[in-house]
Amino acid sequence: MASTLPPPPTWNYTPDEVSSLTQTAIDNIKKLDDQIAAIPIEQATWENTVEPMIEQENEDKLSSKFYLLKETSPNKELREACNAAVKDVQKASIDSSMRHDVYLRVQHVFNNLEKIKKEKKLSPELVRYLEKSEQGYRRSGLALDEATRDKVSELKKRMADLTLAFSKNLADDEAFIPFTEEELEGVPKEVYSEFAKTDDGKFKMSFKYPEMFPVLEYAKSPAVRKQVFVENENRAADLNTPLMEETIAIRSQLAKLLGYRHHSDFVLDIRMAKKFETVRDFLEDLKVKLRVLGEKDYKSLLALKKQECKENDWDFDGKLHIWDVKYYNTMQIKNDLQVDQHKISQYFPLSRILSQAMAFYENLFSLRFEEVANVEAWHEDVKLYRVYKRDGPSEQFAGYIYLDLHPRPNKYGHAANFGFSPGYYTKDGKRVPPCTALVCNFTKPTATKPSLMKHNEVTTFFHELGHGIHSIVADTQTTRFHGTAVARDFVECPSQILEFWTWEPVQIKEISQHYETGEKLDDALIDSLIRSKHVNDGLFYLRQVHFASFDLAVHSRTEESPELDLQNLWNGMREEISLVGGDNEKMAGYAKFAHIMGGYDSGYYGYLWSEVFAADIYYTRFKADPMNPKAGLEYRQSILDRGGSRDEMEGLREVLGRDPNNDAFLQELGVSDRANL
Ligand SMILES: [Zn+2]
Repeated sequence: MASTLPPPPTWNYTPDEVSSLTQTAIDNIKKLDDQIAAIPIEQATWENTVEPMIEQENEDKLSSKFYLLKETSPNKELREACNAAVKDVQKASIDSSMRHDVYLRVQHVFNNLEKIKKEKKLSPELVRYLEKSEQGYRRSGLALDEATRDKVSELKKRMADLTLAFSKNLADDEAFIPFTEEELEGVPKEVYSEFAKTDDGKFKMSFKYPEMFPVLEYAKSPAVRKQVFVENENRAADLNTPLMEETIAIRSQLAKLLGYRHHSDFVLDIRMAKKFETVRDFLEDLKVKLRVLGEKDYKSLLALKKQECKENDWDFDGKLHIWDVKYYNTMQIKNDLQVDQHKISQYFPLSRILSQAMAFYENLFSLRFEEVANVEAWHEDVKLYRVYKRDGPSEQFAGYIYLDLHPRPNKYGHAANFGFSPGYYTKDGKRVPPCTALVCNFTKPTATKPSLMKHNEVTTFFHELGHGIHSIVADTQTTRFHGTAVARDFVECPSQILEFWTWEPVQIKEISQHYETGEKLDDALIDSLIRSKHVNDGLFYLRQVHFASFDLAVHSRTEESPELDLQNLWNGMREEISLVGGDNEKMAGYAKFAHIMGGYDSGYYGYLWSEVFAADIYYTRFKADPMNPKAGLEYRQSILDRGGSRDEMEGLREVLGRDPNNDAFLQELGVSDRANL
């Protein structure tokens, strides 16, 4: 059977080949645009305009492949060639998306969509393709007159400069605080002994997370924690405040030019949430319902503070400050929970988790993995698997997944799925299967030393493999909507659902196996782990609501809005929403909130949004019977297989049998309805 399958992709490019293949691809993009632009507008049709666009987009595989190589190849020259290739293709794509002459032809076809739909019996996915394409051009300003289009381009250029300057200010910031050993009392010595030192022997704490977080978590002195927190919040504030103010103003102006009320409406128009009011109400509801839980967390941390003040004969001011939260949270976990993460990790050797995760996906989603021998990929560590669907009596080949799991120099440093070759159907109905790559950084096991995973790494692996599966099982006509190509506020949801299984006692037991004794994790250890899952999550999620609400507030301003005062807004909202104050310190945490300067603007709510719906799906379909293969298959077919080929809300309703809500999310956190009465 294997012989009839399409072979896996090849990887042996030279840097010169990367450059010349990229140039050809770029020439082809321009050639097609010119070809379409040469058609008299009135004669633009589905066949001569849209179909060739779909075809070219479907067949364009190289740039994502080079993107993967740029992040993973051990060959420096190749990485550099790929880096240049990716930049060139990005530039060419932007140029192409701004072709007004092409837009006029697409618009003409779009205006006749109703007629074409009937004549051609277009599938909903192809209709969506044209609608989204037309919308994309319009959102770039191509439906406006020439002078306004120029204005839009000019504003966008200015905004790109502002975003760059904003992150550069943060990257260039080399601020530190010199501390004496006494001041760092409580912080583990192995942490601060790694800090650089001043000439007079003080420890220089930079604001990088591995240095700053342990100080906030362990430094006994409240004055030290306060100094660290406040100075971190105010980093680059003088430089970045005007940049953010100008960016927000430009976004408002752009939204107006493009026919929207404000920037939030512009962003949300292509998200699952659709409207500003939906997100506003979503956040408001969470804020109200999480408050009881947040107050409970607040009280328990405050009690620890009171106790500590008493023991040390310090004045107790009766308030939990923002710089106290990490410290007392750490203390609480240490005192009450005593989760022995090190011991637990002995039950999660990497090779075991790998095979168990695959077995899990096979059972839940009716799949089969088959390892491919003698793989040729970008590095000898890389493994390759064929994935089959077992929906009916005979199995179907779904696609290829590469696993590149271990760290090495110059490799991408986090865990991510690279869906480098999405699947599609050719014009004559032949399926071109997808390929994807999971790139992670788990320590490589040796003959004498196993690679042991912490529980949170197991969760991460299930999460990332979930993205990989999404990229493999999807079955769409176009690459545009394949796999994880869904709305930004939905893309994490399918992987967040999968994290739930790594917190189910039965499932934890099932996947565990001690690397020496072969024993399963015992109930007491599993119980300690599960009790640690939601410690102080009331405060944690309220903080997320604060960030998301701030983001939404600054991006939903209209001409009637009062003058923007970022600092007052930031501090006021934090106190009001996250319950924890800053003792009247003026802080400017927004000035390092890079999310909302580029990419997550009016989008920070997405983290909460997808998590809330993930909980809804898990509780509604799986909680009572987590390994039910029928529920698993139905979910896969309604959500994963469909990719972004239909509105995400439709898939969600299909799986839930109703509109989604936040009941399960709150139940998971332990907020009962009674508590809200
Ligand atoms: Zn993810």
